[in-house]
Amino acid sequence: MTAALVPLEKTPVETWVPPAKPSLVGLSRAELVGQLGSIGVVPAQRKMRVQQLWHWIYVRGAQDFDEMTSISKELRAELDRHFTVARPEVVAEQVSSDGTRKWLLRLSSGDSIEKAHEVECVYIPETDRGTLCVSSQVGCTLNCSFCHTGTQRLVRNLTAGEIVGQVMVARDRLGDWMDRETPNGSRLVTNVVMRGMGEPLYNFDAVRDALLIVADGDGIGISRRRITLSTSGVVPNIVRTGAEIGVMLAISLHAVRDELRNELGPLNRKYPVQHLLQACRDYPGASNAKRITFEYVMLKGVNDSLDDAKLLVKLLKGIPAKINLIPFNPWPGTAYECSDWDQIEKFSETIFNAGYSSPVRTPRGRDILAACGQLKSETEKLSARERQALRAMAMTD
Ligand code: SAH
Ligand code: SF4
Repeated sequence: MTAALVPLEKTPVETWVPPAKPSLVGLSRAELVGQLGSIGVVPAQRKMRVQQLWHWIYVRGAQDFDEMTSISKELRAELDRHFTVARPEVVAEQVSSDGTRKWLLRLSSGDSIEKAHEVECVYIPETDRGTLCVSSQVGCTLNCSFCHTGTQRLVRNLTAGEIVGQVMVARDRLGDWMDRETPNGSRLVTNVVMRGMGEPLYNFDAVRDALLIVADGDGIGISRRRITLSTSGVVPNIVRTGAEIGVMLAISLHAVRDELRNELGPLNRKYPVQHLLQACRDYPGASNAKRITFEYVMLKGVNDSLDDAKLLVKLLKGIPAKINLIPFNPWPGTAYECSDWDQIEKFSETIFNAGYSSPVRTPRGRDILAACGQLKSETEKLSARERQALRAMAMTD
């Protein structure tokens, strides 16, 4: 592949228009105070009202202001006149033979064309946890050659509300809110990974605002140690992730030589391996107890030699790291193949013998295209404006 054929980054199409009645989901406490002021709630009451709203939205999962019985009827009616507590709409649900669930979500906006924008979100139940894989963008501005999402051309950043909304949709569908029935009273969604569609560090502000809400102890309450942000290596925003969000970090490394990593993901040309690893060394809060995960997708005959494994452990020296080997998940039209199991085991052993934990991730939900790198949503009905934007993008390719 040549630089001329593969653009470094696609141009995002920023078409989001807030709906006439915006959702309060995804607003910070300070923003909620502002919204209450805008509908005439007196200053002395705003903080208390925000606490009540926060509890109803993020602890109880209220879908309607009417449910919020600790708030006066008059204020509930006033809130309903101006706002909603809507999350993205579920348009399809698929359940894998292994219990993994994938939801296709339609995003709403004040622009009727925008109804066509969709993202996917995946719930992966395991014996000791339930992990929700959340999207940060419609499509992805990057073009990693092994990733299905990267083939989607239309790109839009999700808002903080649309990101938090995915966690809320999962809790809605699984009946996973306080007061609703969950087995043993324990939560089903215990972990969140920003590993769905999109590059989260190219939508930094919305991802930060959303994750701070997801981690808030008076609301959804999933601790930062149970939230992982996966990035293909947007170096300037890696240290910011540690400082401003404080979640666990995963780096999609996949190759140890710049020449190969350039080919797998064009972002490497901007931020080469050594720069990326320096950002990891500088990551605030990384320690042996809070290791950085390095993800390595196993591509047959491409990056899976034992020399690559040896170079990998050499490069990671001095970084509190664990290495996650991901068998390549195929998707329609890909030219790559998954490494042979034998080779994956030898690769894993080489890393293990050098003192690193090197689990091989069991692919989940492959039968419904829900596994890592298989997500892609098609936006079929394009407006004239979007077609124009696409044409402009094509011309800059
Ligand atoms: N953009 C971010 C997060 C989303 S990608 C990132 O790249 O990290 C989700 C993860 O799936 C990444 O680790 C990515 O490298 C991996 N992945 C992409 N395509 C894959 C495929 N076909 N098989 C296995 N893993 C894949
Ligand atoms: Fe985007 Fe991540 Fe897929 Fe690369 S691997 S195209 S960064 S979603």
